[in-house]
Amino acid sequence: MSDTHTINTGSCLCGSVTYEISGHLGLFQYCHCSRCRKTTGSAFAANLFVAPTQFKWMQGEDKVGRYELANAKHFASAFCTQCGSNLPWLTKTGKAVVVPAGTLNETLDIAPKANTFYASRAPWEKCVSELPMFDELPAR
Ligand SMILES: [Zn+2]
Ligand SMILES: [Zn+2]
Repeated sequence: MSDTHTINTGSCLCGSVTYEISGHLGLFQYCHCSRCRKTTGSAFAANLFVAPTQFKWMQGEDKVGRYELANAKHFASAFCTQCGSNLPWLTKTGKAVVVPAGTLNETLDIAPKANTFYASRAPWEKCVSELPMFDELPAR
């Protein structure tokens, strides 16, 4: 099967850190929990889950910072110590790597399948489809 050789690559904003994922991308979902909102600074995290054996750092691993939230069972975060971008992080249990989908380079052939912790969403969150769409910044 050709798709067993699928490779996806990703990087942080400054490009110091790059990574590669081999094989199928797993679960893809939006998480609206307060931890994901804080760590991404956004309304929700767009996270993909892959097995640790599928993931490897290609460049700049020494620039990857990690923060482990004391009381969390799974949650941690990783980031580029140079540009601050979120990066894939190994769960505290070591069972999965959580990949922020926005750090991937390729167009994905899968789409998010669910919203998790939707009850914890920010009170100001609106479904994107309810808002006007501009292809770029709107004209002033
Ligand atoms: Zn960076
Ligand atoms: Zn979350």
